[in-house]
Amino acid sequence: MTTIPHSCPTIDRSDFLALEKPMASGQVSAGPCVKSFESAFAAKFDFKDAAAVSSGTAALHLSLLALGVKKGDEVVLPSYVCPALLNAISYTGAMPKVADVDYEDGNISCVAAKAQLTRKTKAIIVPHMFGEPADLQPLLSLGVPVIEDCAQAIGARYRGKYVGSFGVLSVFSFYATKMMTTGEGGMVVSADKRLMARVRDMLSYDHHPEFCVRFNNKMTDLQAALGCSQLKKLDKMISLRRSLARLYSERLKGLDMTFPFHSLLTTPVFYRYVVKISGRAQKVITGMKKRGINCERPLYKPVHQYLKLKGFPVTENLMKDSISLPIYPSLSFRDALRVVKEFYQQA
Ligand SMILES: *Cc1c(COP(=O)(O)O)cnc(C)c1O
Repeated sequence: MTTIPHSCPTIDRSDFLALEKPMASGQVSAGPCVKSFESAFAAKFDFKDAAAVSSGTAALHLSLLALGVKKGDEVVLPSYVCPALLNAISYTGAMPKVADVDYEDGNISCVAAKAQLTRKTKAIIVPHMFGEPADLQPLLSLGVPVIEDCAQAIGARYRGKYVGSFGVLSVFSFYATKMMTTGEGGMVVSADKRLMARVRDMLSYDHHPEFCVRFNNKMTDLQAALGCSQLKKLDKMISLRRSLARLYSERLKGLDMTFPFHSLLTTPVFYRYVVKISGRAQKVITGMKKRGINCERPLYKPVHQYLKLKGFPVTENLMKDSISLPIYPSLSFRDALRVVKEFYQQA
């Protein structure tokens, strides 16, 4: 019995071949491939401009710095998200202000975010969890700059437009098992020329007439060549994810559990397929693992627990109830049916 992993990157022969050009030319650090990747990425999603960086975390950090976030400021983030956001905020010296999320989609609650606003608030980071876009309109109308975190939602749409089009700045991640990969990598996009100029100024330390603290957050040409190759396959990879999600929804519909939420305003990309079974998630996950199928809790530990904060009931419930099923472009329908069959036994 082979084990079905929970997630895995999608790498094929064309990705191998794409690396030949930078390898053969000797241009392995940032160069023409980075420029091509940035233009291709911006063109694909109708973004004005895009700057490739070394990770999603770096993209968040540089976005906060571009907005002038510093010690004494506050930045709002959701509790139900990985600690990358907490790190990026902490690098700037600003105070993280944590907001609970909505149970349906796991995205930041607008009511909870609003309650965290003060005169010191400089930004709200809004991740689109599991590939289902957050309801951005009410968040944007709070009057605080919104950074869209599209790390899990590349290619998803909100009110017909791609995520990343709405924030004052938006960030993406190309970590191994994200929607598309460059090994490690990220992107910052914005329609604001001044903000993009600041991001570009800070991501590279050399050839500046004046000194100020800058970073080495450049993407390499090796990564960018892989990125270009992956971007060409992105539509195909998203459509495979959608087909697998449809298969799960159809075949599991007899079970008494909550299926992934889908708003009428969005077109999701199913970075994750997360179901909710009241209170029994851990038991089901353990049972599935025994049968060689790696289902997981979608989040290792929520932000408020790292900060030892109390009073995040929705996030606590999501931690108890949520199960993430294997979903990725290379998961065969046959394996997906094996997941379905075992899930009926365990749930
Ligand atoms: C993966 C992820 C990040 C961090 O991206 P890295 O490239 O791993 O630094 C940030 N936010 C969200 C929502 C993520 O899923």
